[in-house]
Amino acid sequence: MKIGFIGLGNMGAPMAANLVAAGHEVTGFDLAAPMPEGVAAAGSAAQAATGAEVVITMLPNGAILRSVAAEILPAMSKGAVFLDCSTVDVESARAVAEEAEAAGVLAADGPVSGGIGGAAAGTLTFMVGGSEAAFARISPLLEIMGQKAVHCGASGAGQAAKICNNMILGITMIGTCEAFALADKLGLDRQKMFDVVSTSSGYSWSMNAYCPAPGVGPQSPADNGYKPGFAAELMLKDLLLSQQAAEAADADTPMGVAAAALYKTFVEEEGGKGLDFSAMLPRFEKRSRG
Ligand code: NAD
Repeated sequence: MKIGFIGLGNMGAPMAANLVAAGHEVTGFDLAAPMPEGVAAAGSAAQAATGAEVVITMLPNGAILRSVAAEILPAMSKGAVFLDCSTVDVESARAVAEEAEAAGVLAADGPVSGGIGGAAAGTLTFMVGGSEAAFARISPLLEIMGQKAVHCGASGAGQAAKICNNMILGITMIGTCEAFALADKLGLDRQKMFDVVSTSSGYSWSMNAYCPAPGVGPQSPADNGYKPGFAAELMLKDLLLSQQAAEAADADTPMGVAAAALYKTFVEEEGGKGLDFSAMLPRFEKRSRG
């Protein structure tokens, strides 16, 4: 298949590399990141989209998605599919889908879970919003880049699932980090803490698959000086999206509110910007009860 791929950062690059490895012809465009091996470099987003049967975007936020969509939709072939895998607000996803439909292009929002490890291994989970027809067309590609794809409903439903998932992730990462910091102060060895919790009722993806303590559990950004990974500012973005959605839907999310506030302070005042979201652990280590 001829694929355009726009946004080849931490996540997009390994996803595109897996499509190339599966034999697809991928043309990419990124404002800054280098092209992975086997991806042809386009001079612009519109050029990457021209003639593609499927265009995939993996971009930082909804505003950037909207501007890229405005640029590429006029260049896309009628009947082609526009699959956005970024995590963005539900409104941007729906607005872009409407514009795509008006341009004769099928649209799907397909945000992912699984982190950079899942992107590299091709084991992401895709949560997809859009028509049955769009889902059917992208399914073979989702099978290459992921291990599971759930068709959640109409346009925007994938993003709704994603922000709920990431609200849980932000909350569990904070809980895991504060528990490690407490365990340290209680004199408990971190490896023992991991051995117990990862096989007890406190286990979670944050503990078991992405342990925030260096040298403990599987390889994670903690073992690499907290280089992202999944940047703390992207987690803050997702938590703010969940709170924006909760506000609009009148949903009570007290732990989500607390997690958003902690990540906001971490990113804006405590030097967390540019660090992985699991760097909440050294942040808690530095602090006392107050
Ligand atoms: P990233 O910052 O590493 O990559 C984004 C890329 O988009 C960058 O390379 C940037 O240069 C490029 N870009 C920005 N504006 C552009 C434009 N106008 N045209 C072309 N390229 C442009 O971020 P990431 O970690 O790869 O995350 C991408 C998306 O995936 C985000 O929405 C994020 O929330 C989501 N996500 C990330 C993870 C993770 O673990 N990193 C996991 C799940 C979802």
